[in-house]
Amino acid sequence: MRKYVIIGAQGSGKGTQSLLLARDLDLVHISVGDIFRWHVQNHTKLGAQVRRTMAAGELVGDDLVEGVVRDRLEQHDWNYGFIIDGFPRSRRQAEFFLESYDIDGVIHLDLPDAEVRRRVLARRLCSRCGMDYNLIADRPTQEGRCDVCGGELVTREDDTEESITERLRHYRAKTTPILELFGRKEYVVTVDATPSIESVQATIRDGLRLPAPR
Ligand code: AMP
Repeated sequence: MRKYVIIGAQGSGKGTQSLLLARDLDLVHISVGDIFRWHVQNHTKLGAQVRRTMAAGELVGDDLVEGVVRDRLEQHDWNYGFIIDGFPRSRRQAEFFLESYDIDGVIHLDLPDAEVRRRVLARRLCSRCGMDYNLIADRPTQEGRCDVCGGELVTREDDTEESITERLRHYRAKTTPILELFGRKEYVVTVDATPSIESVQATIRDGLRLPAPR
């Protein structure tokens, strides 16, 4: 059983790298942002509670986030472990998490602000299946259409200049200190997220002493 946390600014490749690890090691990938987006898209009560906060690039309240994470992990569908992405994002969330779970490793994807902006503004999302694209590195075959399901590609509501600035501010102020907290108790692997997807994945595996990708 392996339990990992992946931390990094927007566009640092958390989702992509998590999926690669999850697929290979049979881990469940838990993305708090994806859970919230599902609720917004499906017009649930929770979706209505978080929609505006998300669009503005603000952080959702700790109580609400912790409840969502607790409910998700209580499903116990993670026989081989999990990799959690987008959580914790504040010291309080990190403390809550450390009290409840033993973590095997924390992957920290490091990316300069200028590159964060460049990548996030080029990001597109399938409105039907949620698949992620990037107009710089990972273009769809047919412009504006998802390669997997043919759905329309849209820009995330929170991928605007203003929202990125706000999210980066929160990230630097709140998330970086939790790395110190994890650093004291856990195994933090800091990886330069600038190189190619394959190269970042190889460095992560190396840092976590995992076998190379299958
Ligand atoms: P993400 O897809 O991880 O960038 O998350 C999208 C948005 O969901 C964030 O900008 C926040 O508004 C909200 N969110 C996701 N995870 C958290 C968290 N751990 N704490 C607070 N807000 C969160």
